[in-house]
Amino acid sequence: MQTKILLEEDEMPKQWYNMQADLPTPLDPVYSARTGKPATPDDFSAIFPMELIKQEVSTKRYIDIPEEVADILRLWRPSPLFRAHRLEKHLKTPAKIYYKWEGVSAAGSHKPNTAIPQTYYNMKEGVERIATETGAGQWGSSLAFATSIFDMECTVYMVRTSYDQKPYRKVMMKTWGAECLSSPTTQTESGRAMLEKDPDTPGSLGIAISEAVEDAATHDNTNYALGSVLNHVCLHQTIVGQETQKQLESVEETADVIIGCVGGGSNFAGLAFPFIHDKLNGKNPDLEVIAVEPTACPTLTKGLFAYDYGDVAGLTPLMKMFTLGHDFVPPAIHAGGLRYHGDSPIVSQLYEDGIIGARSCHQNEVFEAAVTFAKAEGLIVAPEAAHAVRVAIDVALECRQTGEEKTIVFNNTGHGHFDMSSYEAYFAGSLVDYEYPAELIKDSLTRLPKVAQ
Ligand SMILES: *Cc1c(COP(=O)(O)O)cnc(C)c1O
Repeated sequence: MQTKILLEEDEMPKQWYNMQADLPTPLDPVYSARTGKPATPDDFSAIFPMELIKQEVSTKRYIDIPEEVADILRLWRPSPLFRAHRLEKHLKTPAKIYYKWEGVSAAGSHKPNTAIPQTYYNMKEGVERIATETGAGQWGSSLAFATSIFDMECTVYMVRTSYDQKPYRKVMMKTWGAECLSSPTTQTESGRAMLEKDPDTPGSLGIAISEAVEDAATHDNTNYALGSVLNHVCLHQTIVGQETQKQLESVEETADVIIGCVGGGSNFAGLAFPFIHDKLNGKNPDLEVIAVEPTACPTLTKGLFAYDYGDVAGLTPLMKMFTLGHDFVPPAIHAGGLRYHGDSPIVSQLYEDGIIGARSCHQNEVFEAAVTFAKAEGLIVAPEAAHAVRVAIDVALECRQTGEEKTIVFNNTGHGHFDMSSYEAYFAGSLVDYEYPAELIKDSLTRLPKVAQ
């Protein structure tokens, strides 16, 4: 009975898989917030390097991973795929549960998979500093790690609740040489405007994005980097799913259910897209794919598929995606990395077309699953990853009812070693299960921007 399924370094994928090549419904165009017309490269070139702008719109099926990038990814890749024998036994399920473990990277999550190539392309194009936002601190620390490798500067706008709840993520960023600020700050127009409206705001990813974009747009040597949502970010994460496919093949398994948590959609995309390719081309037509989100921030399950901004201030281009409205400030749940009002346009289109499904979970049931998982498998996972654990367990329990021997694969995106205060709150019984009131979502959706289509 094999537990750890490993690949050799030279088996790491040499190319990223681009889902845009195979979408049954191509993406709607991105609109410029500046001109109100379909965006052109000019709308992005002030804040992104040209190579990433090209990847963003590419419909080429495979894109080469530069050798310098692969060299760095090999510090922790290929990552292991585990068979959760002990969890299966505990659940008395006939299902097989596999998880891809992305907690082995330096920053402890899947995010360096894109931080490294993004920083590399910026460095190649002469950029000296990168500004970004971070929710739980995972993206900020990943970018801090990447910029330290390429000897660049880094400024991170960290959502205030996480800044206060997760002090050690700040210290990690500092260790790698980045500057980390509590957002909203008084250093940007967007930050000052938000503080004036609500001095006690817990902050949100949307606000922090406004600050980082403004910083990049107002400084010549500075670009902006986003840790999720965008097509090129999803692209870079597909190394995860391609490795998983090879690993499953090596033990002669075919996935029946693929599960990933969804904040902006990148880890879900990374695991799922290569498998969705097989679903669409007839290799694995019955594959079920499930995106998991918090009930407190129910973008896919309660949002609208519409044009919206990526940030609160309306500085980013307009993308068609599932959204709760760009000024939606989700409650301060502990899975900070899942508190985003929007979702990847590609993930959104796949959901709209019924190719993937979605479920939402409350935080208490999520932590209950995380504790069950920790006792069975040892790993203490990030609260975000625990959403995928919850649904993997639920599907395995459904299999116990039906007797089905499904092969379940989920993306275990990171460790929870900096989230112990969240576990502590769960054990103390002080976590609140928050269902966002439908009227407030409706209200926020009335302020969606209009696009002349
Ligand atoms: C950021 C993060 C997520 C959610 O982001 P996606 O872009 O939706 O993947 C999930 N898990 C961990 C550990 C994270 O750091």
